[in-house]
Amino acid sequence: MPDDVNLWTSMTKFIEKPVILDTSESISKIVFESLQEANINYTILSENLEDWIEKDKREVIAELNASANKTTTDFEKYYPYETILKILDSIRVQHPKLAKLYSIGETLESRTIPLLILDNEFKSNSKNNNKSAVIFECGIHAREWISPAACLWFINAFITTKQGMSVLEKFRLHFVPVLNPDGYAYTWNVNRLWRKNRAFTDNKKCVGVDLNRNFDVDFCKTGASKNACDQDYCGQYAFSERETQSMRDHIFHTLRTRKIEMYFAIHSFSQLWMFPFGFTYALPNRLDQYEMYSQIAIQTIYNTSRQIYNYGSTINVMSYKVSGASDDWMQFNNFSKFNFALELRDKGNYGFLLPSKFIKPTAEEIWNAINAVLIECKL
Ligand SMILES: [Zn+2]
Repeated sequence: MPDDVNLWTSMTKFIEKPVILDTSESISKIVFESLQEANINYTILSENLEDWIEKDKREVIAELNASANKTTTDFEKYYPYETILKILDSIRVQHPKLAKLYSIGETLESRTIPLLILDNEFKSNSKNNNKSAVIFECGIHAREWISPAACLWFINAFITTKQGMSVLEKFRLHFVPVLNPDGYAYTWNVNRLWRKNRAFTDNKKCVGVDLNRNFDVDFCKTGASKNACDQDYCGQYAFSERETQSMRDHIFHTLRTRKIEMYFAIHSFSQLWMFPFGFTYALPNRLDQYEMYSQIAIQTIYNTSRQIYNYGSTINVMSYKVSGASDDWMQFNNFSKFNFALELRDKGNYGFLLPSKFIKPTAEEIWNAINAVLIECKL
């Protein structure tokens, strides 16, 4: 591949349509010629990516304007960072016995990283319970908009349904809906396809660290780049970034008072249900349970929406190595019993530009799967 061809997905075993994006015509020509020579079928989704992004943006803004005067939150829309904060705060205000809102840190551009905790035992002055925690990490990669949207949808589903309330009897749920607020804001304001955070690097021309390569596990040895201009730049050292530091410190803080049963890192896209590891072919402890949970999950998804998700350890599913990822760090250090990294919809028709009409079906199938796993979970 020529250097300036930007792949949206890596060539995982299961992706049917790896999306290639490129702005220069001459290079697309070379790519198409080599695809033809190799007899590889391809579809052109858009002749002009910028037009596609602009059109998508107009639709998102029009939907936001249309719902601006509504008094209740529509959980089937994409929202900018500031609105997400407001939504979290209104959940806190409306459900004081169920929800508490915190900040786990602040970014370089002075945005707070919110944490919403759900528990059915937040009564006035009630002493701390010792329920195990389940952690939802969303929005670590800026352009994966379905991730924060799904996180918000989950929060609403947990507090407004009988099924959700029964989970809150058993677990305390921690949601970090936007772990990368600077990157997320940048995708709204400047570049829709931005992935990293907005940190300065040792290269004046290139900005941003891939936060999901910045955790301290096999740091930057394989499956991450030391070049600050790359999409998967690992940063100068493990936990060099405020966002990853904040998550790390929140995990340590949580472990002082309770166990963590599960950790879900929510990404898009490709429709994959993955467990550790990404940096080694070694498989995690409790592999049988990992297999069982994963099978329950993908079957539940299929029963919900007839969507196919594939599962396995990250390295096996991706067929290349990934180092410094949050779920691997959690697993490697035994901070949480089970750790999953999920790639939500779709399989490449829209990729990161998944239209908002897919928020509900996507969040619903995953929510059902997570619930099925949490129900199965014996403490
Ligand atoms: Zn991601």
